[in-house]
Amino acid sequence: MAPDGQTLAPNVYDAEPIPEAARAEIDRLLRSGDLFRYTAPKDAPVALLEAEFAGLMGSRYALAVSSCSAALFISIKALDLPKGAKILVPAFTFAAVPSAVVHADCVPVLVEVGSDYRVDIADLEAKLDDAQAVLISHMRGHTSDMDAIMALCDARGIPVIEDAAHSLGTTWAGRKIGTIGRIGCFSFQSYKLVNAGEGGILITDDPELAARAVIMSGAYEENWKKHPGLQNSFCHWQNKLPLYNMRMQNLSAAVIRPQLPEVARRVVQGRTNHDYVARRLNTSPWLTVPPALGPEDRAPDSIQFNLTGFETDAQALAFQRAAKARGVSVQIFGLSEGNARAFWNWQFLGTPPDLPMTRAMLMRACDTRLPARLTRPELDYIADALISAATEVRG
Ligand SMILES: *Cc1c(COP(=O)(O)O)cnc(C)c1O
Repeated sequence: MAPDGQTLAPNVYDAEPIPEAARAEIDRLLRSGDLFRYTAPKDAPVALLEAEFAGLMGSRYALAVSSCSAALFISIKALDLPKGAKILVPAFTFAAVPSAVVHADCVPVLVEVGSDYRVDIADLEAKLDDAQAVLISHMRGHTSDMDAIMALCDARGIPVIEDAAHSLGTTWAGRKIGTIGRIGCFSFQSYKLVNAGEGGILITDDPELAARAVIMSGAYEENWKKHPGLQNSFCHWQNKLPLYNMRMQNLSAAVIRPQLPEVARRVVQGRTNHDYVARRLNTSPWLTVPPALGPEDRAPDSIQFNLTGFETDAQALAFQRAAKARGVSVQIFGLSEGNARAFWNWQFLGTPPDLPMTRAMLMRACDTRLPARLTRPELDYIADALISAATEVRG
């Protein structure tokens, strides 16, 4: 609270402290210098994290790596697609996602995303027969219609990778996001639900994919013996696959493990906060928070909303300035210079395709951080600021 009793604009950038339990383990690792995941004969922090994460998700295998982008890259490699294979990717995602496809010698084909931030199923279907894999990015944790996607892909035998970087804790018809496709990938980068600065993990129930991914992540020589349940597959693949060395180190695992028991609380808190602010924003004729699809239970740590009835980009930018003047930062994905989530900025893909639906969405879709730790007065501050900024510009 400010001295005059008014609530100051909340700080939405500071992270939650890392649980105290991480300290003793980090101290132990620093004393012993045991930072490499394959030095200890067993129970290295990274191996324990993999077992715990697989348990949390109900998956057979988990592989911790250096980032979610690395997990996506290794997942694509593990599918053993021919060079130049087309992989469908939503056009609303982070630049690192089509980059992972390029890195894996495949060609990303962008699929339209609607004003509800979800994959346009008709466009996906139209592009599917040419594709050899589908990488569904659950951008900002928004879940596309996984029933429709899986039905279309299963009918053609096309594998689905889930980019669940920002979806830890989200469920679809009671199933955990990341467990619906062949492989699910998660991020531990600082802006995600579990914060290790950097880090990623992939999960799968497929022993062949798991074995191939483990070896390519950098389990050289017989280090694969330290991954449970895969002996036969490993013997087959050892020395036949490149080693990309994208391993996670023990310090990261020590930071992540004590946060896993916090996930359930962060999910409930984040969802409660999000839904509260969403209800308030939807009372404004100028702001629209699209509802989640029926089967989805979300785990948001930010809020996305569309500017409704803002005819010009100038009006949208005036809203952004008016919110900023009230202390609340809003990103309009398509209106910030060089934004990594606007597909026309992905120049490494060549000339951007014509995707009018996604483009229209990006030009009016706003993004505001809403970390789980915010209090009700702080949420009200943000909602009030956004509503009054919209009214100032349009009302
Ligand atoms: C953060 C994010 C990524 C990239 O994760 P890194 O761990 O930083 O590589 C990919 N996809 C989505 C949807 C993300 O939110």
